[in-house]
Amino acid sequence: MSVIEGRIHSGVGGSYAVETGEGTFSCRARGLFRKQGITPLVGDLVRMERIDEEEGYIQEILPRKNALARPPLANLDQLFLLCSTAQPRPNLRLLDTLIAVAELSDIEPVVVFTKCDLAGGEDLARIYRAFPCFMVSMDSDVDIIRALFEGKTSAFCGNTGVGKSTLLNRIVPELRLSTGEISAKLGRGRHTTRHVELYPAAGGWVADTPGFSALEPLEQQVLAKENLAQGFREFEPYRGCRFLDCAHVKDSGCAVVKAMKAGEIPRSRHESYCALHETLKNKKDWE
Ligand code: ZN
Repeated sequence: MSVIEGRIHSGVGGSYAVETGEGTFSCRARGLFRKQGITPLVGDLVRMERIDEEEGYIQEILPRKNALARPPLANLDQLFLLCSTAQPRPNLRLLDTLIAVAELSDIEPVVVFTKCDLAGGEDLARIYRAFPCFMVSMDSDVDIIRALFEGKTSAFCGNTGVGKSTLLNRIVPELRLSTGEISAKLGRGRHTTRHVELYPAAGGWVADTPGFSALEPLEQQVLAKENLAQGFREFEPYRGCRFLDCAHVKDSGCAVVKAMKAGEIPRSRHESYCALHETLKNKKDWE
């Protein structure tokens, strides 16, 4: 019996493909996890016991840096948040919510505005100047985005219609090919039900996920009104506001509100913060 470490790259019906330095193994999880209520996730670093050249058992899930329930992924380094400038028109409230969830989950948000040939993205890019932010159109150079993949595990998030697959295929042209190869190796067809899978991409890994526009952290309490300000990095220099426990919503002496009025914090970012704060506050009252 030999125990080796690896990473789950896909999982279907309780069978997980674990990539290790000694090859890929098809693994089942020990019943232990089910008893503890732990479900292995794609992206999990695991300790596995080899049975033979192809199969094994997952013995242990190593501590996670972060974990999302939807899409079901663990240990993400960065999240590309796609938003079109037009058709459909940008939903900044949704974008800001996703950014906050990512920040509080220790995932670096990368903002990408698509279809910039339809509507200029300059005003939008100015709002997100605190982030890695890109404007792309059909013919723009995507090398600079590809360079961000190196050594990281990334996922793409965006509503249907924002051009997620198109952009992903342009950044990683081999993805289409490798999709077929990996699926064949695991004995599945290419057009089976969509599920999450990690693919090698430009020196890193990318999760091919069905289009999703909501991020649901495994730990539900990741977003709370008490920590919401930490989900807005522009507030950072002003968090030591003169009010103790300031909500940074509308108090006249609040440093964050002052910075927003002075144009140092984009107005729409602060508006999203206030709307989210209100939602979270009410949610708490109901409970
Ligand atoms: Zn304040």
